[in-house]
Amino acid sequence: MSYDNNNVFAKILRGEIPCEKIYEDEFVLSFYDIDPKKKIHALVIPKGKYVDLDDFNSKATSEEIVGFLKGITTVAKKLGISSISGKGYRALANISDDGGQEVPHLHFHLFGGEKVGKMVE
Ligand code: AMP
Repeated sequence: MSYDNNNVFAKILRGEIPCEKIYEDEFVLSFYDIDPKKKIHALVIPKGKYVDLDDFNSKATSEEIVGFLKGITTVAKKLGISSISGKGYRALANISDDGGQEVPHLHFHLFGGEKVGKMVE
C-alpha cells in the first residue's frame, strides 16, 4: 500500500489538526489517543511516511528504527508507566486490514495506568 498523505496522523504531523502532545523529538511524535481504551492510552508515531511496521522495517534507516523504538520507552518514562519506574504497559501495533489497522501511518498504542488485561479480547 502506498502512503496516503491525507491520513489523520499525517495531518497531525503537519500541524493541520491538533493533538494532545506528550513528546516529540527528531524521530517520533507522541500524543494521546482521541478515544482512550485504557486509563492511559498514548500513540507513538514515526515522523517519516511509513504505512505500517513492515513498511517501516523495510524502508526506514537504522537511525530511524532505533529512534522510533527508543521513543516508545522515552514516552513510557514520561507517562510514568515504564518498567524502569516499576510499572508496565502494553505496546501494540495493528498492521494492515487483517491486523485491524485504521490509520495508515505506523503507530504504536501504549496502554497503561492500570492492569490492562488479556492480550486479545
Ligand atoms: P488503529 O486502529 O491501530 O489504526 O488505531 C488508530 C487510532 O487512532 C484509534 O485508536 C483512534 O482512536 C486514534 N485516532 C484517530 N484519530 C485521532 C486523532 N485525531 N487524534 C488522536 N487519536 C486519533
